[in-house]
Amino acid sequence: MTQTDASGTAPHPSGRPGGLAGLDLRGRTALVTGAASGIGRSCALRLAAAGARVRALDRDAAGLDALTAAYAAGGDGSLAAEVLDLTDLDAAERAAAGADILVNNAGLQLVKPIEEFPGEVFHTVLTVMLEAPFRLIKGALPHMYASGWGRIVNISSVHGLRASPYKSAYVAAKHGLEGLSKTAALEGAAHGVTSNCVNPAYVRTPLVERQIADQAAAHGIPAERVVREVMLTDTALKRLLEPEEVAEALAYLCTEQASFITGSSLPLDGGWTAH
Ligand code: NAD
Repeated sequence: MTQTDASGTAPHPSGRPGGLAGLDLRGRTALVTGAASGIGRSCALRLAAAGARVRALDRDAAGLDALTAAYAAGGDGSLAAEVLDLTDLDAAERAAAGADILVNNAGLQLVKPIEEFPGEVFHTVLTVMLEAPFRLIKGALPHMYASGWGRIVNISSVHGLRASPYKSAYVAAKHGLEGLSKTAALEGAAHGVTSNCVNPAYVRTPLVERQIADQAAAHGIPAERVVREVMLTDTALKRLLEPEEVAEALAYLCTEQASFITGSSLPLDGGWTAH
């Protein structure tokens, strides 16, 4: 009969504890981009709680200060902030060196029809949300390959799988990120490196709060009607997702138990893509 650990699950051949409750990332270095806010902040805190040495990267120094202040050091994890604007692609590639876990999360959004969409914003969105992840993966792989272990998690979106009007740059960047993630999965497989996407629907973060306020102003309707009538029309579950729920999915993809999951896209979409 198979022996089980305290959580009731069989121990992994690696000897690390089984089950999410026993998620053990001690000794792993995790680089999280866009960690000053929203989903990235929750991911950084979750990985540090699991024992990882987290490097929290963002261009927002004040947000990073708030994150490090909020992090109550405990267990074996740690959290250190690094201010960097990812449009500096060479610096982004250098920053990724030595990471065992890379979370490509930083992002931005502009909602406008294509004929009014400023070309320079399109370029910036593609740079931060597609080219920077490429350069970060490129910078992280030598160490991951040398150690025979790595986890790349790309925070994509339902918009990596489905389009919506007025989000040309965002949808293009996320669809590109899906392709990059799958390619990294195929190349990394022989080296113990997995690469996956997480695909949330609308998450309660500052990025979405801004969209709600903008759309409420544009349509002249209250914020709760924007959420109900614009954001939740395609989901079966009629609520926003919380950033902590995304962080749990991310954490799972970093476990030993998830070592056979690669090249995949995990929808956290309340049934949106079931249509
Ligand atoms: P957010 O605005 O709360 O946080 C994004 C972070 O990225 C910010 O801290 C910002 O400073 C940082 N950032 C932006 N440009 C940067 C740059 N050039 N260099 C360094 N850092 C930069 O947004 P969020 O909602 O937490 O989104 C995080 C990720 O999740 C994004 O990739 C987004 O597309 C994705 N996502 C969000 C939702 C949602 O509903 N909120 C849904 C699906 C996917």
